[in-house]
Amino acid sequence: MTISDELLSKLGQSLVQGNLGDPKVMGQTDVSQTGPGISILPEANVVKVGGQSIIDRGRKAVFPILDEIVENLPNHKMIIGTGAGTRARHAYSVSLDLGLPTGVMGVLGTFVSMQNARMLHYLLAKHGIPFIEPIQFPQLPLYLAERQAVVFFGMPPYTFWQQNPESGRIPPHRTDTGSYLISEVFATRQMIYIKDEDGLYTADPKKDRNAKFIPKISVEELKAMDLKDVVVERGVLDLMQNAHHSRKIRIVNGLKPGQITRALNGEDVGTLIYAD
Ligand code: ADP
Ligand code: MG
Repeated sequence: MTISDELLSKLGQSLVQGNLGDPKVMGQTDVSQTGPGISILPEANVVKVGGQSIIDRGRKAVFPILDEIVENLPNHKMIIGTGAGTRARHAYSVSLDLGLPTGVMGVLGTFVSMQNARMLHYLLAKHGIPFIEPIQFPQLPLYLAERQAVVFFGMPPYTFWQQNPESGRIPPHRTDTGSYLISEVFATRQMIYIKDEDGLYTADPKKDRNAKFIPKISVEELKAMDLKDVVVERGVLDLMQNAHHSRKIRIVNGLKPGQITRALNGEDVGTLIYAD
């Protein structure tokens, strides 16, 4: 069957009749050909609260951060994601011992990040901030318009569809990645990671006292440095390279009061990692 030229543009014709595996056909869908995509939630900020780095520290770390988030509600819309942390690592170690596959670990990690999201949500409930699961994302614009913020679990919702990592068996796309993907698809204003260090260093500052702070770096430069460990999941860096909207991320220290506010205000704080 052919569809008449009147109904479909040239691009439409080649997508309906062409080979979707053909790089030439795919090239026609590039933003250089179709124009830039729209930004769905350009005013919103995705803010990920670390699991091991923040939530596992309990009230001493969490309460001041929630206070700072609440203080910023009049000025900033926030999609608040949660990490999973130590309980997920324990679940991964038990399931590794039991011989369970990566996909099942993806399911487990999802539920741990959900536990953390539930905890933050009940602490923020008096401010009218809802917890949403992926199935409720269609209501996200309404919640942001009405209440300025929502809490979600940071894991991408692929559960047992999670891909195997290049090496080992731990799900490669965890809560940094799931949060990042929200910032990309909705083309949000910013992607901010709240962790327990000032940002990216040349090495894990908890293990290397000579680690040097890096205030700003491109993904390409960072990959070329080939660091033993970095402050965000490497999956985020890979995804940034093909990003259409979310081409920079910021990492701030949630244990230092004021850093979240400064990041929300667009100030230069923590580390900025950008795609060229
Ligand atoms: P989250 O709590 O969001 O899951 P992680 O604990 O996974 O965060 O990652 C943050 C941690 O990464 C920091 O606490 C820090 O100790 C560690 N880290 C490893 N490598 C680096 C690096 N090169 N620069 C900064 N921090 C690093
Ligand atoms: Mg982590």
